Amino acid sequence: MGWGPGAGVCLRAMAHLLIIEDDALLRDGLGAQLTQAGHTVVTCANGEDGQTQLQTSRFDGVVLDLGLPRISGLELLHWLRQRLAALPVLILTARDSTEDRVQGLNAGADDYLTKPFDMAELQARLGALLRRARLPAFGGSLELPSQTGRRLRVDAQLPQAWLGDEALELTQREWALLSLLVTNAGRVVSREDVLETWRTSAPDSAGATGGLASNALEVYIHRLRRKLEDSGLNIRNIRGLGYMLESTAP
Ligand code: CA
Repeated sequence: MGWGPGAGVCLRAMAHLLIIEDDALLRDGLGAQLTQAGHTVVTCANGEDGQTQLQTSRFDGVVLDLGLPRISGLELLHWLRQRLAALPVLILTARDSTEDRVQGLNAGADDYLTKPFDMAELQARLGALLRRARLPAFGGSLELPSQTGRRLRVDAQLPQAWLGDEALELTQREWALLSLLVTNAGRVVSREDVLETWRTSAPDSAGATGGLASNALEVYIHRLRRKLEDSGLNIRNIRGLGYMLESTAP
């Protein structure tokens, strides 16, 4: 297929991540992988340094080993949750013990992985956590970098979108579609995702999308594409899978 991992990278919102892991090999590996995925990464080898980082910097997400020197991962998680309730935390546990995981999840972890884990799975899970965390933030506003054209800016609270200084005129359905694509920029959004979003966020006068003609989605995609002309962004049709918002920059 023509869409490689690089296709959407420039669009995928980068995150500032904290990795707290005392295993140097794993820590360096995680750091390198997540940096390569486009994130900025700070690494710590013990709980105390991790705590200092959390006190002094703002992070979008944390990968936290539970078995850590000085301050344990679980202790740090308890501490963190009292201060940064919404910060996404993915815990790593060495033992495949149910008790360990349950404790971590009870302490406020959003997800966990048992070592040894697959790096691709870690990235997928972390990506899901960050996207979920961003949804409320998306209630604020979000800007998509555009290398060639006018910058797309969306504000979900108003709701309103702009291309450069120009407000986009969007129907409720177009807005829901654009929001979904922007939130998942660089990733494929399936037809089912779009229909589900329409069902929940933009029910039309008929009250449902069940009767929507099969080509209706293409019509909306086409309209949205035209409205995004000159933005440096394109809605790509990924045959058989769905649609992806991507940069048209080379
Ligand atoms: Ca450890």
